[in-house]
Amino acid sequence: MTAGTLDSGAGTLGQEAATVEVHDVHKWYGAHRVLNGVDLTVRPGEVTVILGPSGSGKSTLLRVINHLEKPEIGHVSVNGELIGVRRHGDRLKELSERAILTQRSRIGFVFQNFNLFPHLTVLENVAAAPVATGKLGRAQADELARELLDRVGLADKADAYPRQLSGGQQQRVAIARALALRPGVILFDEPTSALDPELVGEVLAVIKDLARGGTTLVIVTHEIGFAREIADRVVFIDDGRIVEQGPPAEVLDKPRHERTKDFLSKVL
Ligand code: ADP
Ligand code: MG
Repeated sequence: MTAGTLDSGAGTLGQEAATVEVHDVHKWYGAHRVLNGVDLTVRPGEVTVILGPSGSGKSTLLRVINHLEKPEIGHVSVNGELIGVRRHGDRLKELSERAILTQRSRIGFVFQNFNLFPHLTVLENVAAAPVATGKLGRAQADELARELLDRVGLADKADAYPRQLSGGQQQRVAIARALALRPGVILFDEPTSALDPELVGEVLAVIKDLARGGTTLVIVTHEIGFAREIADRVVFIDDGRIVEQGPPAEVLDKPRHERTKDFLSKVL
């Protein structure tokens, strides 16, 4: 199969693109309130780019969506299913660890620092989760992993180890790994900020390919040009709150709030 023919939306490889809803989420660490009433809806196939200063709560928001962190107030749902909790009368009841792991397996997460397994080959990194979760047998998982590596342009690196790859290549493996569980949504936390400048483009190209394929994407990045090109919606966060959101032509080119203007003047 050639690169670009695989459909990550509702096609052969993909789970149906998911809706993500964040309802009035508050999160604090000790006395420090990091998210202060965040409401966000991401529709199926939509690409949402989250911008904001360092420490504004962007990573925490992604971690709450993936239930790596639990909000003190509010809740998140993916395709209508509450993440980490279920309704019990008027109350919310916590899910078991196992149920949370199942939910998490439907949400892809790509980290700034790739987080590949160093002792596994590239192919094994991509094939590991579908096997571990019992979704696929070893042979099927390997076949899927080869297709996904082809898609991210790394078919020839299947037997290499992560340390033998450039940062850009490692991040493309991490994206293939996230795709292997056929997630309904993929969350990216500054996927290019650990890369040398000349390697940023190859990773952004893979993300653009996913965006065109109709996958729901939520991307924290400081790459403003990229945001302008692919975002359906740009969300600017400061101090744990959404300050403004809208199409890139509004938020990036005609920001209404001083804080957005100030931030953009620093990163543009
Ligand atoms: P961003 O990704 O926008 O830079 P983060 O979501 O990582 O921001 O962090 C928001 C704030 O929460 C920061 O002030 C950070 O220091 C604090 N924070 C993040 N994680 C923790 C944690 N596990 N314990 C305590 N404070 C944290
Ligand atoms: Mg962060």
